[in-house]
Formats: sequence, structure tokens, C-alpha cells
Amino acid sequence: MSVSLGLHRLQQVDSHRDRIRARLKAIEETLQADDAIRSAQQTFAASESAEKTAERDLRFAEAESVKQRVKIEQAESSLYGGQVRNPKELQDLQDEIASLKRHLITLENREFDALSMSEAAEAEYQIAQAELDKARASAASQHVDLTVERETLQKDSERLTLEHKAAIGAVPQSILQIYEQLRERKHGLAVVAIQDSACAACGSALTPAQQQSARSASQLFYCPTCGRILYAS
Ligand SMILES: [Zn+2]
Repeated sequence: MSVSLGLHRLQQVDSHRDRIRARLKAIEETLQADDAIRSAQQTFAASESAEKTAERDLRFAEAESVKQRVKIEQAESSLYGGQVRNPKELQDLQDEIASLKRHLITLENREFDALSMSEAAEAEYQIAQAELDKARASAASQHVDLTVERETLQKDSERLTLEHKAAIGAVPQSILQIYEQLRERKHGLAVVAIQDSACAACGSALTPAQQQSARSASQLFYCPTCGRILYAS
């Protein structure tokens, strides 16, 4: 077997492995993109807690207003009940009721604010829940396909590792070094076939003498234009 044929086989196996590795990497990244779920979960948890707090604040504000109204009712029933006759005491009672009513306005404003906060928090909570459901549904539908594809690719990868070892065995060590260095410089593609009297990588035309050189069993022939090793079948 000529050196370039051995290298060409190795190149085909390695190119296939490169494609599989790139695809596996992309799949892993997508599966990791469960980040989307994680992020949606965090937002949901935060909105859930904010909603509970706002709800509690609202209940508290409502209770405070109710208590204040009860106080006012009690004071008014004393005022109009007839038990208090002393003008000074009656005046004090009227002042107290006026003061209680002023504070009730403050409490009712607080209650209104708490209600607005609670409604806003509830809306945020609903949005966060919908976003989380969406992220989960999207991940689930993607993952079924991707998990199956990953399994297939991992098996292909194992098979190609064996093929890679076999292909390496057919290439002398010194040439293997040249190949690996060239692969690094040429984006993974070190060996290309001659197609229609031209380099299959860069397309530059080759003379019959150059093609003949590429057929040499013992020596490597490089494309004069792109510098890749040429293989002539
Ligand atoms: Zn070329």
C-alpha cells in the first residue's frame, strides 16, 4: 500500500471522527442548555416567594384596617350611647374619633398599596410559571431526539477509534507526524484526493507530471497551491 493511500484512509476516518466530535459537542451544549430551565426555575422560585410575601403583607394591612374600624365603631357607640355626658369627656371622645379616622386613611392607603403589590406579584408569578413550563416542554421534546442521536454517535465514535488505530498502523511514524502537523495547520484536512485533475481541497489544476508524482508509492506529493498531501487513486 502506498503511503498516500494509507494517509488518505486515515484522513477519511479522522474527518469522520471530527464531524462526530463536533456534533457530540453541540448536543452536549444543547443538553447543558438546561440552563434555560435552571434560570426559569430560579425566576419562578423568586416570584413564588415574592408572591407569598406580598400576600402576607396584604392580609396584615387588611387586618389593621379592620381593627381600626372596630375601634372607631366602639368610640362612636360610646359617643352616641348616652353614657358620656360630661362636655370635656365628649370633646375628648370626638377628638379621639377624628384621630382614629385619620389613621384609618393611612391604613387604607397601605392596604391599597399592598393590594397593588400583591396583584403585580401574582402576575409575575403566573408569567414565571408559564416560562418554566415552556422551558421544560421545549427541553423534553429536544432531549428525546438528542439523547438517541448521542447514543448512536457514541457508538460510531467507538468504532471509528478502532478504525483510526488500524489506519495509523499502516502509516510510518515519521509521516504520521507530518500528517498531524499538517492537520493542525489545515483545519483538520491534511490529505486530499485528486479529482478531475485538480486538488479536491483548493481546486487548483495539476499537470500530468504532478499527478504522476502523487501516485508515487514511496514519496509524498504536496499540492503546490494549498500545501496539502495529494492522493491519486
Ligand atoms: Zn490544494
